[in-house]
Amino acid sequence: MALDLARIEALCFDVDGTLSDTDDQMVANLANVFKYVLPMERAKKLARYIVMRAEGPGNFLYGLPDRFGIDDELADLNERFLARWLRRGNRHFELIDGTIDCLQQCEKKYPLAVITARGPHGTSAFLSQYDLEPHFRCVASALTAPRTKPYPDPIFWAAEQIGVEPENCLMIGDTTVDIRAGVAAGAQTVGVLSGFGEEEELRQAGADLILGSVADLPAALAI
Ligand SMILES: [Mg+2]
Repeated sequence: MALDLARIEALCFDVDGTLSDTDDQMVANLANVFKYVLPMERAKKLARYIVMRAEGPGNFLYGLPDRFGIDDELADLNERFLARWLRRGNRHFELIDGTIDCLQQCEKKYPLAVITARGPHGTSAFLSQYDLEPHFRCVASALTAPRTKPYPDPIFWAAEQIGVEPENCLMIGDTTVDIRAGVAAGAQTVGVLSGFGEEEELRQAGADLILGSVADLPAALAI
Protein backbone atom coordinates (compact mmCIF):
# COMPACT_ATOMS: atom_id res chain seq x y z
CA MET A 1 0.00 0.00 0.00
CA ALA A 2 1.39 3.35 -0.95
CA LEU A 3 0.21 6.74 -2.06
CA ASP A 4 1.08 8.23 -5.41
CA LEU A 5 2.23 11.55 -3.98
CA ALA A 6 2.73 13.09 -7.41
CA ARG A 7 -1.01 12.82 -8.06
CA ILE A 8 -2.17 14.63 -4.91
CA GLU A 9 -3.31 18.24 -5.30
CA ALA A 10 -5.84 18.62 -2.47
CA LEU A 11 -6.67 17.00 0.88
CA CYS A 12 -10.21 16.18 2.04
CA PHE A 13 -10.70 15.53 5.76
CA ASP A 14 -13.54 13.73 7.48
CA VAL A 15 -14.43 15.19 10.92
CA ASP A 16 -15.75 12.61 13.41
CA GLY A 17 -13.04 10.16 14.39
CA THR A 18 -10.56 11.89 12.09
CA LEU A 19 -10.18 15.46 13.39
CA SER A 20 -12.69 15.24 16.27
CA ASP A 21 -12.31 12.54 18.89
CA THR A 22 -14.62 9.55 18.85
CA ASP A 23 -18.05 10.39 20.07
CA ASP A 24 -18.90 7.92 22.82
CA GLN A 25 -21.70 10.25 23.86
CA MET A 26 -23.57 9.30 20.70
CA VAL A 27 -23.45 5.66 21.69
CA ALA A 28 -24.72 6.47 25.17
CA ASN A 29 -27.57 8.61 23.86
CA LEU A 30 -28.63 5.98 21.35
CA ALA A 31 -28.47 3.24 24.01
CA ASN A 32 -30.84 5.33 26.12
CA VAL A 33 -33.43 4.98 23.37
CA PHE A 34 -33.00 1.25 22.87
CA LYS A 35 -33.14 0.54 26.60
CA TYR A 36 -36.92 0.99 26.44
CA VAL A 37 -37.22 -2.10 24.25
CA LEU A 38 -34.06 -4.04 25.11
CA PRO A 39 -32.13 -5.01 28.24
CA MET A 40 -29.48 -2.33 28.88
CA GLU A 41 -26.52 -4.52 27.92
CA ARG A 42 -28.08 -5.38 24.57
CA ALA A 43 -29.15 -1.76 24.10
CA LYS A 44 -25.52 -0.68 24.52
CA LYS A 45 -24.29 -3.36 22.14
CA LEU A 46 -26.82 -2.40 19.48
CA ALA A 47 -25.99 1.29 19.87
CA ARG A 48 -22.28 0.63 19.45
CA TYR A 49 -22.99 -1.63 16.48
CA ILE A 50 -24.93 1.14 14.76
CA VAL A 51 -22.29 3.73 15.50
CA MET A 52 -19.52 1.44 14.26
CA ARG A 53 -21.31 0.01 11.23
CA ALA A 54 -23.37 2.96 10.15
CA GLU A 55 -20.44 5.30 10.68
CA GLY A 56 -22.20 7.29 13.35
CA PRO A 57 -25.91 7.76 13.93
CA GLY A 58 -25.76 11.19 12.30
CA ASN A 59 -24.61 9.62 9.06
CA PHE A 60 -27.07 6.76 9.44
CA LEU A 61 -29.93 9.22 9.76
CA TYR A 62 -28.67 11.39 6.94
CA GLY A 63 -28.50 8.30 4.79
CA LEU A 64 -32.21 7.58 5.26
CA PRO A 65 -33.51 10.25 2.88
CA ASP A 66 -31.08 8.97 0.22
CA ARG A 67 -32.09 5.41 0.87
CA PHE A 68 -35.82 5.96 0.70
CA GLY A 69 -35.93 8.80 -1.77
CA ILE A 70 -37.33 11.19 0.83
CA ASP A 71 -35.89 14.57 0.24
CA ASP A 72 -34.68 17.55 2.13
CA GLU A 73 -37.51 17.91 4.64
CA LEU A 74 -36.39 14.81 6.50
CA ALA A 75 -32.74 15.78 6.29
CA ASP A 76 -33.70 19.16 7.69
CA LEU A 77 -35.74 17.55 10.46
CA ASN A 78 -32.77 15.36 11.27
CA GLU A 79 -30.45 18.34 11.35
CA ARG A 80 -32.77 20.32 13.59
CA PHE A 81 -33.72 17.63 16.02
CA LEU A 82 -32.41 14.10 15.72
CA ALA A 83 -28.72 14.64 15.08
CA ARG A 84 -28.60 17.42 17.64
CA TRP A 85 -30.42 15.33 20.17
CA LEU A 86 -28.04 12.41 19.63
CA ARG A 87 -25.14 14.72 20.33
CA ARG A 88 -26.77 16.61 23.17
CA GLY A 89 -24.59 17.11 26.19
CA ASN A 90 -21.57 16.87 23.95
CA ARG A 91 -21.28 20.29 22.43
CA HIS A 92 -17.71 20.47 23.57
CA PHE A 93 -15.60 18.69 21.00
CA GLU A 94 -12.25 17.08 21.61
CA LEU A 95 -9.58 17.27 18.93
CA ILE A 96 -7.61 14.23 17.88
CA ASP A 97 -4.04 14.81 19.11
CA GLY A 98 -1.88 16.46 16.48
CA THR A 99 -4.76 17.84 14.40
CA ILE A 100 -3.70 21.51 14.48
CA ASP A 101 -0.10 20.72 13.65
CA CYS A 102 -1.24 18.41 10.83
CA LEU A 103 -3.44 21.11 9.30
CA GLN A 104 -0.70 23.74 9.62
CA GLN A 105 1.82 21.47 7.92
CA CYS A 106 -0.51 20.24 5.20
CA GLU A 107 -1.87 23.64 4.23
CA LYS A 108 1.66 24.77 3.33
CA LYS A 109 1.52 22.38 0.40
CA TYR A 110 -2.13 21.66 -0.36
CA PRO A 111 -5.56 23.26 -0.27
CA LEU A 112 -7.67 21.54 2.41
CA ALA A 113 -11.37 20.66 2.49
CA VAL A 114 -13.75 19.25 5.10
CA ILE A 115 -16.01 16.43 3.96
CA THR A 116 -18.29 15.37 6.76
CA ALA A 117 -21.60 13.60 7.28
CA ARG A 118 -22.32 16.00 10.14
CA GLY A 119 -25.02 18.55 9.53
CA PRO A 120 -24.08 22.18 8.86
CA HIS A 121 -24.74 23.33 12.47
CA GLY A 122 -22.68 20.58 14.06
CA THR A 123 -19.89 21.08 11.54
CA SER A 124 -19.56 24.79 12.13
CA ALA A 125 -19.84 24.29 15.91
CA PHE A 126 -16.83 21.99 15.75
CA LEU A 127 -14.80 24.18 13.39
CA SER A 128 -15.44 27.38 15.30
CA GLN A 129 -14.64 25.90 18.72
CA TYR A 130 -11.04 25.49 17.57
CA ASP A 131 -11.03 28.33 15.02
CA LEU A 132 -10.33 25.84 12.26
CA GLU A 133 -12.25 27.53 9.41
CA PRO A 134 -9.23 29.46 8.10
CA HIS A 135 -7.42 26.19 7.38
CA PHE A 136 -10.05 25.00 4.92
CA ARG A 137 -10.79 26.19 1.41
CA CYS A 138 -14.28 24.70 1.56
CA VAL A 139 -16.52 22.71 3.89
CA ALA A 140 -18.95 20.03 2.69
CA SER A 141 -21.44 19.03 5.36
CA ALA A 142 -24.19 16.41 5.04
CA LEU A 143 -26.48 18.77 3.14
CA THR A 144 -23.96 20.40 0.78
CA ALA A 145 -24.18 17.86 -2.03
CA PRO A 146 -27.26 15.93 -3.21
CA ARG A 147 -26.02 12.80 -1.43
CA THR A 148 -23.51 12.41 1.38
CA LYS A 149 -20.75 9.81 1.88
CA PRO A 150 -20.37 6.98 0.88
CA TYR A 151 -21.45 8.61 -2.37
CA PRO A 152 -18.69 10.57 -4.06
CA ASP A 153 -20.85 13.71 -4.45
CA PRO A 154 -19.25 15.83 -1.68
CA ILE A 155 -15.76 15.04 -3.01
CA PHE A 156 -16.86 16.10 -6.49
CA TRP A 157 -18.24 19.31 -4.97
CA ALA A 158 -15.06 20.05 -3.00
CA ALA A 159 -12.83 19.31 -6.00
CA GLU A 160 -14.83 21.76 -8.07
CA GLN A 161 -14.66 24.43 -5.36
CA ILE A 162 -10.91 24.06 -5.13
CA GLY A 163 -10.41 23.73 -8.89
CA VAL A 164 -8.79 20.29 -9.01
CA GLU A 165 -9.88 16.97 -10.48
CA PRO A 166 -11.44 14.48 -8.01
CA GLU A 167 -8.71 11.94 -8.81
CA ASN A 168 -6.15 14.45 -7.59
CA CYS A 169 -7.80 14.57 -4.15
CA LEU A 170 -6.78 12.54 -1.12
CA MET A 171 -9.70 11.58 1.14
CA ILE A 172 -8.69 11.04 4.78
CA GLY A 173 -11.18 9.38 7.12
CA ASP A 174 -11.73 6.83 9.86
CA THR A 175 -14.53 4.71 8.38
CA THR A 176 -15.29 2.61 5.33
CA VAL A 177 -17.79 5.30 4.31
CA ASP A 178 -14.91 7.74 3.80
CA ILE A 179 -12.84 5.22 1.89
CA ARG A 180 -15.77 4.15 -0.28
CA ALA A 181 -16.60 7.77 -1.10
CA GLY A 182 -12.97 8.40 -2.03
CA VAL A 183 -12.73 5.28 -4.18
CA ALA A 184 -16.02 6.13 -5.90
CA ALA A 185 -14.69 9.61 -6.66
CA GLY A 186 -11.50 8.17 -8.14
CA ALA A 187 -9.50 9.83 -5.35
CA GLN A 188 -6.73 8.27 -3.28
CA THR A 189 -7.62 7.42 0.29
CA VAL A 190 -6.02 7.26 3.73
CA GLY A 191 -7.71 5.38 6.58
CA VAL A 192 -6.94 6.57 10.12
CA LEU A 193 -7.36 4.33 13.16
CA SER A 194 -8.28 7.15 15.57
CA GLY A 195 -12.03 6.72 15.14
CA PHE A 196 -14.71 4.13 14.50
CA GLY A 197 -13.18 2.02 11.75
CA GLU A 198 -10.95 -1.02 12.01
CA GLU A 199 -7.82 -1.62 9.99
CA GLU A 200 -9.00 -4.71 8.16
CA GLU A 201 -12.30 -3.21 7.00
CA LEU A 202 -10.55 -0.01 5.89
CA ARG A 203 -8.10 -2.07 3.86
CA GLN A 204 -10.90 -4.10 2.34
CA ALA A 205 -12.76 -0.93 1.41
CA GLY A 206 -9.72 0.01 -0.65
CA ALA A 207 -7.68 2.40 1.52
CA ASP A 208 -4.37 3.20 -0.18
CA LEU A 209 -2.69 3.76 3.19
CA ILE A 210 -3.58 3.25 6.87
CA LEU A 211 -2.22 5.60 9.53
CA GLY A 212 -2.65 5.75 13.31
CA SER A 213 -4.09 9.25 13.07
CA VAL A 214 -3.81 12.52 11.16
CA ALA A 215 -0.73 13.27 13.28
CA ASP A 216 1.11 10.84 10.98
CA LEU A 217 -0.16 12.44 7.78
CA PRO A 218 2.46 15.16 7.14
CA ALA A 219 5.26 12.58 7.27
CA ALA A 220 3.30 10.24 4.97
CA LEU A 221 2.96 13.13 2.51
CA ALA A 222 6.68 13.94 2.83
CA ILE A 223 5.87 17.46 4.04
MG1 LIG B 1 -15.58 9.71 10.65
